[in-house]
Amino acid sequence: MESKKCSNKNCQRSLPVGYKHKQCENCRNKRVKHVGDVGKGVLGVGILIGSTALTIVTKGKFNLKK
Ligand SMILES: [Zn+2]
Repeated sequence: MESKKCSNKNCQRSLPVGYKHKQCENCRNKRVKHVGDVGKGVLGVGILIGSTALTIVTKGKFNLKK
């Protein structure tokens, strides 16, 4: 029986027979972690932009009052 290999070209680990996924467990975990990090990064940038915009708006109001 032909054994499957991980679809990640940098990995090429042989997958167990009957394995449902194209990538090995290691690569799948990495991918999930990567997506999670990107999600957190986007969220962090969003918060940063939001708070910066809020700061600018607040300072603008303060300057107008002076
Ligand atoms: Zn792999």
